[in-house]
Amino acid sequence: MALLTKAPRGTQDVLPGDSSKWQYVESTLLETAKLFGFQEIRIPTFEHTELFNRSVGDTTDVVQKEMYTFEDKGHRSITLRPEGTAGVVRSVLEHGLLNEALPVKACYVLSCFRYEKPQAGRLREFHQFGAEVFGPADATADAQLITMVHEILETLGVWDISLEINSIGCPKCRGAYNQLLKEYFHAHYDELCPTCQERLEKNPMRILDCKNPACAEVAKGAPKILDHICPECAEHFQKLQEYLTLAGIEFTVNPWIVRGLDYYTRTVFEFVSNNIGAQGTVCGGGRYDGLVKELGGPETPALGFAMGLERLLLVMEQCGSEFPPKSTCDLYIASRGGEAAKLAFQLTSRLVKEGYVAECDLMNRSLKAQMKYADKIGAKFSMVLGEDEIASGTAKLKNMHTGETFDLLLGDSFVEDFYSRILETVYEDLEDASNHLKP
Ligand code: ATP
Ligand code: MG
Repeated sequence: MALLTKAPRGTQDVLPGDSSKWQYVESTLLETAKLFGFQEIRIPTFEHTELFNRSVGDTTDVVQKEMYTFEDKGHRSITLRPEGTAGVVRSVLEHGLLNEALPVKACYVLSCFRYEKPQAGRLREFHQFGAEVFGPADATADAQLITMVHEILETLGVWDISLEINSIGCPKCRGAYNQLLKEYFHAHYDELCPTCQERLEKNPMRILDCKNPACAEVAKGAPKILDHICPECAEHFQKLQEYLTLAGIEFTVNPWIVRGLDYYTRTVFEFVSNNIGAQGTVCGGGRYDGLVKELGGPETPALGFAMGLERLLLVMEQCGSEFPPKSTCDLYIASRGGEAAKLAFQLTSRLVKEGYVAECDLMNRSLKAQMKYADKIGAKFSMVLGEDEIASGTAKLKNMHTGETFDLLLGDSFVEDFYSRILETVYEDLEDASNHLKP
């Protein structure tokens, strides 16, 4: 029975009391991306397994160890998306978006699924905000994309985070480099984990990204890609750095970033925090000039990034970022007796229509219990309706913070009166009142 009341390992609920933080973060992400010309794309939760094998790469940890893959009832191999880029590229190709004006800019908030060992900042179902750009080959685009992430983090009050960049070259410069890597790792073959021993021939760069401590130790002495990129890639990387400097964005060059997915070329970057434990990479991205063609489209340079929202929230807490206040009940209308309950029900609806958060009793509670509830939910105002109030057509509006009361007419002008009462007397800070209570 425990299975019924316990969520699967590595998943997480966002409870009603916490969801406003998520809503705030998600809307800030999408709004900021909009300012940079991005529009939201929504893609399916699952795709054909082959899509991820081809794009993420079949020598990556994600494909080799982490995918939720199953056969559906029609005997198709289906995989819950482990990341967003592959699905976005598939969608962009399927709908011919590359035939329209370039660049195409799409962003998304979505859940991803990876079978990993759950720990702080590492889940089996997690959420990403991501953005992808199709068309530009120039490093200006890389710089602008990074600028956008920087802007987002600043808007969300994240200050304790550093940007690391690298270039991992193009297929042209990588050939010779892979040869060097193979030679190096062959000399350390026995120290590598079995997965990396297997990867060695097919994709030695993956070893640089292996989480196994023994492999990481060996990787420290490996030749660096940055010392072996071609002049075109070097120039591209130079321009990126120039533009980042132009934007006033601090960065360090970390020659060891290779990123966990196969499709990256040239620019790769990560935003890393040192204060949220071992899973410090909040955002990772880069250029993937070969992917669109790899998936059957026209040769199209492209780039993107993804940001883990669970990790983003951890960093925000760590940085003391401010979240907007939770929405609370503006007016709780308590009632005694059937007629009063009807009126409370009607007045509540009228308030809601005008944009106030209003509640009345749904539990058939005593007046005392209703008021206790109003207090508990942090209602800003309350009002009691009974026979006397119905007879006189007025009720006492109570400011729950100060205890002050005011007469309020229950007729046609009820909602307007409520608003002017609030503005007149209750809030010392009028600005605060109009922020929280809509006219
Ligand atoms: P890591 O090295 O931490 O495993 P990754 O390189 O596998 O990360 P990406 O595939 O680049 O991660 O995904 C982009 C972002 O998504 C990461 O920087 C991180 O913030 C987040 N992320 C990735 N895997 C998880 C996970 N299992 N749980 C929570 N967030 C994750
Ligand atoms: Mg990973």
